[in-house]
Amino acid sequence: MNKIHAARLALRSELEAPAALRKFGSGWISGVLGVVLGVGGLLLVLSLRAPGLLSMAEIRPLQTRVEFRLGLHVLLLAAFGFSALSLALRPGKVLGTCGIVCTLLAALLGGSRATALAPDPAPLFFGLDWFVLNVLFTGLLFIPVERIFPHAAGQAIFRDEWREDLFYYLVSSLMVQVLTFLTFLPAHAVLAVAPLTGVRAWVGALPFVVQFLAIMFLTDFVQYWVHRSFHRFPVLWRFHAVHHSARSMDWMAGARMHFLEIFILRGMTVVPMFVLGFSPAAVNSYIFLVYLYSTFIHANVGWRLAGVERLLVTPRFHHWHHGIEREAIDVNFAIHFPLFDRLFGTHYLPENNRWPSGYGIGGHPVPHGYLAQFLYPFRRERQSPPNPPPAAAAAEDDSLHVQDKGVAGVG
Ligand SMILES: [Zn+2]
Ligand SMILES: [Zn+2]
Repeated sequence: MNKIHAARLALRSELEAPAALRKFGSGWISGVLGVVLGVGGLLLVLSLRAPGLLSMAEIRPLQTRVEFRLGLHVLLLAAFGFSALSLALRPGKVLGTCGIVCTLLAALLGGSRATALAPDPAPLFFGLDWFVLNVLFTGLLFIPVERIFPHAAGQAIFRDEWREDLFYYLVSSLMVQVLTFLTFLPAHAVLAVAPLTGVRAWVGALPFVVQFLAIMFLTDFVQYWVHRSFHRFPVLWRFHAVHHSARSMDWMAGARMHFLEIFILRGMTVVPMFVLGFSPAAVNSYIFLVYLYSTFIHANVGWRLAGVERLLVTPRFHHWHHGIEREAIDVNFAIHFPLFDRLFGTHYLPENNRWPSGYGIGGHPVPHGYLAQFLYPFRRERQSPPNPPPAAAAAEDDSLHVQDKGVAGVG
């Protein structure tokens, strides 16, 4: 057991190696690619072996397709090739060895030809393959952009707290079935009371572009107020504080969100989209957009989007929402249209392309680790901190309607 622990630590320190040891030609890039693709390939093969349990229902039909098998084959070959290259180039052999071991294990389990051990139509499944495809897709899309156009140029891919954020990716991907069920629960409840047949027929017949924009507006309007409530009410803030505990912003940071918040936020924002009867094409397109968009606004991308940021939420706009300084408290709640923040008095975007100096909550009250963060909102503080009650804090603030998230976070 100690050897496994030591190997884990060695692997981690290699992934987090200082910049001088990550240079092109040092075998670091190939080693990381070997590990990521090797682990991804192994997990995909596991999901092929137990599809009823470890494969997302929507992905399962893809598993029999030749493109999927070919893709997996190429992925495993690439993992092996990159790992071998790293072994040749790098004095430390941890990355290369880890990549090779994962690839060989995947091959032993059947590789791209792996078949199901038994037909097990489990009613409950975990989206292990969704996790792999999710991370590979968003990672491959955003990491190059973050490397080429960074805001924080010195920030490494495996920066502080990356394992925590990756774990959030893992949990929400594995629990995709439960989360999807919970997400649609409020909308189903509304539809059961108010079927809105006539409205639904009219909305569903509108042109695609109109439907798409209407979904964006309605969803962001609901999201704005739910999000603002999460900041306003201390009991809700303790859940949302987990999202704001991120001290580094990049494509992974947005995944950090308490399970209960995901349920409430998605459950509420889905209501107008689902209840009003938008067409499946518009709904699915929006879901894909919000999947990419929410990753983008957290990304470490320093693009100057001066013209765009007046109309649409940009990374700088949402980074200010996460900013650690006082001026960043309780501003920029929208995730699509800054218009809502302008209308409701919470817009903040300083001139001269200025960015926040850091991220997180003053005093960093949220503990480290997924489990501790999961339990954080339910825990009572040992002793009440010397902070003013919310009303007094709000009265001190210029913005009477919003609450200091630093105060709420520890209160
Ligand atoms: Zn927030
Ligand atoms: Zn955020």
